[in-house]
Amino acid sequence: MYGTPTPSYPRTAYLLTLVGGVLIAVISALSGLALWALQGSETVLGMKVQLTPTEEGTLAVAIMIGAVVAYAGTVMKSRPAAARAWGIPVIVLAIVTLFLAGGGLFIGAILAIVGGAIAARWKFPAVPAPAPPTFAGPGYGTPPGGTGTPTPPLGGPGKYCIHCGAANPAIARFCAKCGAGFGP
Ligand SMILES: [Zn+2]
Repeated sequence: MYGTPTPSYPRTAYLLTLVGGVLIAVISALSGLALWALQGSETVLGMKVQLTPTEEGTLAVAIMIGAVVAYAGTVMKSRPAAARAWGIPVIVLAIVTLFLAGGGLFIGAILAIVGGAIAARWKFPAVPAPAPPTFAGPGYGTPPGGTGTPTPPLGGPGKYCIHCGAANPAIARFCAKCGAGFGP
């Protein structure tokens, strides 16, 4: 096999994103369970604990986002070529969870944000190129006629006369067929 055992995926980004996503999902789920279990009981402030549909929905969204972030983390390992593309979405999703469910998700969100940032900057390591052919037999080398790019025609694309429709060079000032001027 190839010599150097350099990791072929962003290991730090993978770990941070995966752990961050799991934390976001788990903490959201636990928050929901806690609110649900304590529902109706009184807090020290004398207020009743309530789990409103809005909070349920918010926590559900946070759980789903955490799952997506965790999935993105696994992608960074299984498909390293896609890691970079997932970087920014992970950051955005993690920031969203901060607004959704507040400080309880702070650690998970921060981990995911850092992981996403690393992934977004990560450069897929160059694949070891196959050895170039050492024998330049027929079929190799510069094709006859040179490799220069074709020269565009002088004056660029042509233009058509608005009077007779004849094609004229772009630099023409008068139509070669009917003599009409190509005035500005
Ligand atoms: Zn003309």
